[in-house]
Amino acid sequence: MAEAKLIDGKIYAERLRAQVAAEVAQLRADHGLQPGLAVVLVGDDPASEIYVRSKGEHSLAVGMHSVTHRLPGDTAQHDLLRLVGELNADPQIHGILVQMPLPAHLDERAVLSAISPDKDVDGLHVVNAGRLASGIPALTPCTPLGCMILLKETVGDLTGLRAVVVGRSVLVGRPIAQLLLQADCTVTIAHSRTRDLAAVCREADILIAAVGRPRMIKGDWIKPGAAVIDVGINRVPFDDPEKAAAGRTKVVGDVDFKDARQVAGWITPVPGGVGLMTVAVLLQNTVTAAKRLAGL
Ligand code: NDP
Repeated sequence: MAEAKLIDGKIYAERLRAQVAAEVAQLRADHGLQPGLAVVLVGDDPASEIYVRSKGEHSLAVGMHSVTHRLPGDTAQHDLLRLVGELNADPQIHGILVQMPLPAHLDERAVLSAISPDKDVDGLHVVNAGRLASGIPALTPCTPLGCMILLKETVGDLTGLRAVVVGRSVLVGRPIAQLLLQADCTVTIAHSRTRDLAAVCREADILIAAVGRPRMIKGDWIKPGAAVIDVGINRVPFDDPEKAAAGRTKVVGDVDFKDARQVAGWITPVPGGVGLMTVAVLLQNTVTAAKRLAGL
């Protein structure tokens, strides 16, 4: 059997960013509306800093208004909530993203709940989760939406396909399952208590791995020809013992890519797959929020 086709996240992310840039230009020209994104970072976690910088740069590159608030790691809950309240009321801001994880003394749930659902471009407010589950228009989490774009661009019509989502987090697994259901797939959600996970995975025409365990899903868990979307981002030591001894790490997914590629029909690489879609979808969500807030 031929090797799986690679789903190159770079191509689809670039295309989506170009579409967003065109839409931003159109909104500015036709309605004087410039979508605005505010990103809030509390503390100095290096990974979060990289994500936040990337979000700021990409939003400026597509012509949006972009603001980044960097708060010290010991910021009090009420000060963070006050900032969220100000952003909720700011007419220049249409999307608010508070970078997770927050320092341990802050209550993430309370902060997410304080964001106006209409500006919740991360799609994590319970109102948006409820709208998504009810099949009504919602701001939807970015990574799941990115997975759906990749699937629709490659597989095409998903109607009637068997989809298995491994992982049931609020951030990834659950919203992806909802989106697959909306696309008329027959959906199974698997998790750490699922019995005979390999057999469940083998039934999937579409297999989504959102687990956070390096290379857990093996080649012989995959149905020949299936589309495999690997959401996992895991840091592991290099295979080369010299590099590993020097403490160097690399990023791998939840799927054993080398073996899976021999069986699957399509597969996303890690890095270079789903991860690249997330920021592009965030920009798209900000445009969606701006249009809805403006009644367009
Ligand atoms: P969570 O840790 O919140 O959830 C992991 C899920 O995997 C849980 O539902 C858990 O089950 C399930 N799980 C854990 N171990 C097993 C197992 N042995 N067998 C079956 N299921 C298992 O992670 P997230 O959903 O937030 O993230 C998942 C992965 O996606 C991570 O690698 C993360 O880094 C990556 N990620 C990538 C993004 C991107 O590309 N931009 C964005 C967000 C996440 P249970 O509920 O039973 O505990």
